Amino acid sequence: MKDTDMKKVIRQHAEMENFFTGGFAVRTHKDQQEQTGGHQANPQAAAELEKIAEEIRACCKCGLGSARTNAVPGEGNPNARIMFVGEGPGAEEDAQGRPFVGRAGQLLDKIIAAMGLKRSDVFIANILKCRPPGNRDPRPEEIVNCIGYLQRQIELIEPEIIVALGAHAARTLLDTNKLIGQLRGRFHEYCPGLGRPAVKLMATYHPAYLLRNYSKDNRLRVWEDMKEVLDMLGLPVPQ
Ligand code: SF4
Repeated sequence: MKDTDMKKVIRQHAEMENFFTGGFAVRTHKDQQEQTGGHQANPQAAAELEKIAEEIRACCKCGLGSARTNAVPGEGNPNARIMFVGEGPGAEEDAQGRPFVGRAGQLLDKIIAAMGLKRSDVFIANILKCRPPGNRDPRPEEIVNCIGYLQRQIELIEPEIIVALGAHAARTLLDTNKLIGQLRGRFHEYCPGLGRPAVKLMATYHPAYLLRNYSKDNRLRVWEDMKEVLDMLGLPVPQ
């Protein structure tokens, strides 16, 4: 094994240990800059994604538009093989205009790192692009108004796998009422629409749920789900 490969394996194991031991280091801005550095993006997809983001920032199709501080279109690699999709922005995301930057976001960062990836390797978005007041559940009419933006993002990025974080994301993308416990742990298919190939979808617990129920069993379940994702993509699966 080459030196650089060995270092990568060692780092991945350290990140995995960190996920399981519950160490909760807050990433610094410098860390995040290092993570996003030097990524090759498809300029056309990036430009189209930015156009969608501009539409979202100007959107008032539902009542959440007038209550937001910032819309949160989503961010990441326009050529991502994996898209993580949550339900909607929280307070920190609303304040910064970026997805998954609060405590749940830091846990998602740890999960991504444990997978041997960087945040800048993946694309992170939500079903709703504006924060529901008090972090209440998304309402059906809000989802109906907003879902088109995510659908267009998925069409442009063409991920190989979507990871639906939590029940709302999984139920919306799979058009089902099943519980997250019934959905997680195996692949489903997200159907983007007529003439477009289905995308594999893995449902797992939302990091915010994981923080509220921070047991080793729950972390193990999420980790098993992520190992399935790595395996499906042909990426190294840490044991
Ligand atoms: S939640 Fe979606 S549909 Fe509603 S205002 Fe925000 S961007 Fe528009």
